[in-house]
Amino acid sequence: MSDATPNTDFDVTIAGGGLVGATLGIALAGSGLRVAVIEAHAYELPGQPSYDDRATAVAMGSRRVFEGLGLWRELEADATPILRIHVSQRGHFGVTRMDHREEGVPALGYVVENRALGRVLTAALADAAVSRWMPARIRSFEDAGDRLRLRVDTADGERTLTTHLLVAADGSRSELREMAGIGVHETPYHQTAVIANVTPQRHHEHVAYERFTDDGPLALLPMSGGRCALVWTRPDDRLEETLALDDAAFLSELHARFGHRLGRCVKMGARASYPLSLLRAETDIAHRLVLVGNASHTIHPVSGQGLNLALRDVAVLTELLYETVANGGDPGDPALLERYQAWRRDDLDTVVRMTDALVRVFTNPWPGFGHLRGVGLVGMDLCPSLRHWFARQGMGLRGRLPLLARGGDLDALRAGDRT
Ligand SMILES: Cc1cc2nc3c(=O)[nH]c(=O)nc-3n(C[C@H](O)[C@H](O)[C@H](O)COP(=O)(O)OP(=O)(O)OC[C@H]3O[C@@H](n4cnc5c(N)ncnc54)[C@H](O)[C@@H]3O)c2cc1C
Repeated sequence: MSDATPNTDFDVTIAGGGLVGATLGIALAGSGLRVAVIEAHAYELPGQPSYDDRATAVAMGSRRVFEGLGLWRELEADATPILRIHVSQRGHFGVTRMDHREEGVPALGYVVENRALGRVLTAALADAAVSRWMPARIRSFEDAGDRLRLRVDTADGERTLTTHLLVAADGSRSELREMAGIGVHETPYHQTAVIANVTPQRHHEHVAYERFTDDGPLALLPMSGGRCALVWTRPDDRLEETLALDDAAFLSELHARFGHRLGRCVKMGARASYPLSLLRAETDIAHRLVLVGNASHTIHPVSGQGLNLALRDVAVLTELLYETVANGGDPGDPALLERYQAWRRDDLDTVVRMTDALVRVFTNPWPGFGHLRGVGLVGMDLCPSLRHWFARQGMGLRGRLPLLARGGDLDALRAGDRT
């Protein structure tokens, strides 16, 4: 536990201090609300599941959110810009390319290592006016009139806390979601993402490659020092075999699928694997409870959208809570939670459906499908308005955006600026 004599009455309690929970904690720190973050894994210890070996493609809209929270300047030191995106499929014709110049933005997105995200977020959270409980986990919660009463297991034994609003940011296997009795729609992809950093002979020139192969998509994202972050989706029944390959054999399998656009890979780092499924909570709200991030929606990493989507959860919830503070309202008010869910619905539905469709269409083995996909890729390459639509969607700049994703900051939120 971080605080010597912590308060036990809060306006907002966030369960999970990973990428999403920590960002929300930082965003709410200056709101005037009493905020607690309860995290099960101490940040200092290895094995923290959110700040691990992965690298994350942070979209332009998410850069704005981090800017609005005053975090981007530090993150930028570790961020590699994505200037172009190249989408292709193995064994069939058809390529689509996107370029930041066409979209009038300095970059389509940025690749940041999760450890760098973790370093910046945990330092900012430690400095923020937020009560941190770590390692700790909520054992149970119950209605206590105008608030919830939480029983929390901490290193010093069980503690009781109260809160007006409980935010579940505790990841895909959310215990809070289960305690609240919220069901999920889950579809396993029977695929596992294998990640590793690789260094190709040729510089990536800030291009992000997405390549669809008959046994799953693979992505190579540009990183510093000419390295690329590999996210290679393997069917579950071939995972063991892939993980057992020595580096040389692994890279030769990779080349067979990716081709030699970047030459041969001359170096590679440690591998890690992540089983993949699509998971969507039946509802994102319950009595004084809201689900955000992976607890609400866990999607395939194929287009690098999971965290970007979640940062829009954070930005919308932040905006509604700042407004509530200004109006002297209750942070757990059902009307506020309904507004949150209604605002998030379109964006969540669009991204979840698009990501799922992409995986299914590009792994469909039916004869003739490869040809159709090729027509689709060429059509998009030739049609600027279609490309523009996808680029804006991928950058998180479409639809009704919260102030933080439109370039506003916390001062603007405090001032009640909704323009
Ligand atoms: C291979 C891979 C590549 C990806 N690449 C991208 C990408 O390029 N771009 C992108 O936008 N997204 C990407 N994602 C998705 C992104 O990683 C997730 O969206 C993001 O991690 C979600 O963060 P979260 O905080 O909601 O959940 P998590 O990262 O799972 O964090 C949950 C936190 O809650 C804590 N916790 C768990 N249970 C409890 C409990 N009971 N009490 C208290 N704390 C608890 C955990 O310790 C953890 O700190 C990728 C995902 C994968 C698997």
